[in-house]
Amino acid sequence: MSPVGFGVGSGWKPHGPVAFRTEGRRLIATLPRHCHRGLHVLTEGGYTSRDVPEGQNWSGPYVQISCTQCNADRVADYAWNLTTEGRQPDAIEFDDGPYAGLR
Ligand SMILES: [Zn+2]
Repeated sequence: MSPVGFGVGSGWKPHGPVAFRTEGRRLIATLPRHCHRGLHVLTEGGYTSRDVPEGQNWSGPYVQISCTQCNADRVADYAWNLTTEGRQPDAIEFDDGPYAGLR
């Protein structure tokens, strides 16, 4: 039994942190190439990323990456929620590698 009464989304937590790397002085964020359900390639099917600087449930700042196609299907769990610690990358790349264990 999990405790109830903390309001909607009390069980919510981010999937994990965004993988960052540096290239010279540039900060590069690696985002997952596939959507959270693993069905669609985000760069082909479309996605929306939204910064949530205030976080949720003490998560700290995070970015929500929603799969356009899963969103259209109205399925739950269509988005990645990845913490950023407020870091703002200079560039973004896509790779499933860092997220293989988080799906
Ligand atoms: Zn999808």
